[in-house]
Amino acid sequence: MDLLENLNRQQSEAVSAGPGQTLVLAGPGSGKTRVLTRRIAYLIDQMGVRPYNILAVTFTNKAAREMGSRIEDLLGPNRLSGVWLGTFHSICARILRREAGSGLLPFDSNFVIFDADDQVSIVRQVIKDLNINDKIHRPTSLHAAISDAKNNMIGVKDYPARNYREEVVLRVYEQYEKALRANNAVDFDDLLLWTVRLLAETPQVRETYARKFEHVLVDEFQDTNMAQYEMLRHLASAHQNIFVVGDEDQSIYRWRGADYRNVLRFEKDYPGARKILLEQNYRSTQSVLDAARAVIDRNRHRTPKRLFTERGAGSKLIYYEAPDERAEAAYIIDAIRNQMSSGAAKGRDFAVMYRTNAQSRLIEEAFLHAGMPYRLVGAQRFYGRREVKDIIAFLRLVHNPADEVSLSRVINVPPRAIGAKTYETLISLARGADQKAADILADLGRSGSASLYWDKLGGRASAALANFGMMLAAWRALLVNGGSLPSLFDRILTDTRYREYIEDGSEEGRDRWENVDELRRLAFEYSEHGLDEFLENLALVSDQDTIRESDDAPTLLTLHAAKGLEFNQVFITGLDEGLLPHSRSLEDDEEMAEERRLFYVGITRAKNQVYLLRSEQRSLYGSFAYQDASRFLNDIPESLLQSQSPRASRAQRASAWDGADRWDSRSTWGQPEKEASRQSYRANVGSRAYSGPQPIQRSAPVIETQYKPMMRVSHNSWGEGIVLESKVEDGDEILKVHFESVGMKQLVASLAKLKII
Ligand code: ATP
Ligand code: MG
Repeated sequence: MDLLENLNRQQSEAVSAGPGQTLVLAGPGSGKTRVLTRRIAYLIDQMGVRPYNILAVTFTNKAAREMGSRIEDLLGPNRLSGVWLGTFHSICARILRREAGSGLLPFDSNFVIFDADDQVSIVRQVIKDLNINDKIHRPTSLHAAISDAKNNMIGVKDYPARNYREEVVLRVYEQYEKALRANNAVDFDDLLLWTVRLLAETPQVRETYARKFEHVLVDEFQDTNMAQYEMLRHLASAHQNIFVVGDEDQSIYRWRGADYRNVLRFEKDYPGARKILLEQNYRSTQSVLDAARAVIDRNRHRTPKRLFTERGAGSKLIYYEAPDERAEAAYIIDAIRNQMSSGAAKGRDFAVMYRTNAQSRLIEEAFLHAGMPYRLVGAQRFYGRREVKDIIAFLRLVHNPADEVSLSRVINVPPRAIGAKTYETLISLARGADQKAADILADLGRSGSASLYWDKLGGRASAALANFGMMLAAWRALLVNGGSLPSLFDRILTDTRYREYIEDGSEEGRDRWENVDELRRLAFEYSEHGLDEFLENLALVSDQDTIRESDDAPTLLTLHAAKGLEFNQVFITGLDEGLLPHSRSLEDDEEMAEERRLFYVGITRAKNQVYLLRSEQRSLYGSFAYQDASRFLNDIPESLLQSQSPRASRAQRASAWDGADRWDSRSTWGQPEKEASRQSYRANVGSRAYSGPQPIQRSAPVIETQYKPMMRVSHNSWGEGIVLESKVEDGDEILKVHFESVGMKQLVASLAKLKII
């Protein structure tokens, strides 16, 4: 087929560009991913480049798979073999496995990749070992600090300790690294860090890969971080053929170190790069595009982009303000059900997007209640399940006996009389003898009571450990003797009697067993590839990878996970201040700009219809709080919106709110953006009328605040917290409290029943 067919002029120019550097900068839906895909096909078919010499980086494994099969459609089967096509993480893992035998890396090629849970559990252990107060230094925040450092290529040796906090981070960082090495493990950030170090510091390794990759291509370039950028630069250093596509306005991974200024860096590092702009959008209607543009135009320091569509005006965006979050979910169900039952739409046409994972629960419940199937995107649903993690831990132990995170997870699963105390004795014995726990287990398994550890651990504990050690040894033997992955899997299930353990006759038990069965099915798919690849793929699974294409059902996903995807109809839920934009962004301009980009990404996923939803009142964590409408709603011209908010709610608003003027004197949390007041939403905002099932007991107007910043308080379900801010609004004292258990919360003092402690 003509590889330039169905491309516009700029698109063809990019696809057929000569060697050198190319930067395609263009808005959503303008065909950037299409161009990248065609470019790979073009390189192979028209420019005679061998697939082996091509490296293409996508943002998710799913995107890589789709790109691969698209190229095969274009070129015919088997024309792509040898190409390196995958995410940064998977490409790094591949390089590191090849190079780990060389002695240049602190782990061997059997290394395991620890997932987010494993990483935090190591931090937790380190905190305990170092006697650090985990109330003041939360494990997740220490982990984030370490991850941040790694993304900026700052190792333990270079980590600054300029203040107390940094000193703590440094001490934890140091031990965390030790623990990873002792486990022959790497975390996600290590994959990049070590690859970049290897390329930067070992000229012959760099040369090998740089020579190999004659062409380097990258999708979603705006979301690369510093380390990724460095890696690309090294890999392209021999041939200097690098082709990147991206859109600064869609950069939404700042929290993972992404830096859209890499686009500027690219232009500076490659002054001869050709820059191609794409201006036609093929995805969305004009209304969708106009609304999206109105939102993103408010971000400063950006290059305005022209984007037109030939798809026509299309229908207005629908706005719905629900009295509470259940009504918000019910609205979604109704809208979808109506269209599906009339045959106007299919399940897969819809996507429901939210800012935080926690919001999905109620939406899921609504789908379940209505008996409607849905696809929940997110590794949590499957890979986060206890039973799935158990089995993976057994497999990881077989693969890498040094993996103590997995060992501690399953050493007593199902219960085999190995208590926490025994485990700790085992670990300290191992440390003392400069051995791995796995070695001691193996020794006990082999020698029984003749083992020199037997008495140290006590007979009863030793017997239990010896049994476990024998079991592990048998599994390893099975694998070493050429046993297949499925046979290992089944052997583990039989030996541990896992099914009896998990399937206890309850609904939940059945559900759990089904998950194990699903994992087993996956293991069968990998029988050709073996345990290494199976584990690697499990470790690098990303949210989008959990979308099952075959299911014809609405997709539920976070805005972050929606990147690069498209749907006929998109619901964006939770358009409340504090949620979207997220409360974390209210006091930081850069964060606020990123929230706006996130909203922009959401809107631009839609081909035909966008629904913007919010809820006047929300009880995310079991206590209710009023929400103001998201400031982003104000940016969309009214002419593009059609409101479907219930009448009752509007009437109440009128009575509870005596005029829009007062709005201006009200302040939102943090620093509200100074914007021309546009009234229809503003008038809605801040209504404190409530029509739900739990009437509010209003107390007499408060004038003085009862709570003061820095006071310690305690809440019935959230435990202790610190008051950060307190102010009087509408006669209510409104508090911002940071709870150790759930983080920042906004509360109405008269309802929250806080105790001062
Ligand atoms: P995003 O920024 O959201 O990742 P993108 O720029 O990568 O978007 P694509 O996903 O490549 O855009 O394209 C958007 C849609 O437009 C796809 O369905 C694609 O098939 C279609 N498309 C792109 N170019 C053309 C074209 N020249 N003719 C017809 N359809 C096109
Ligand atoms: Mg794309």
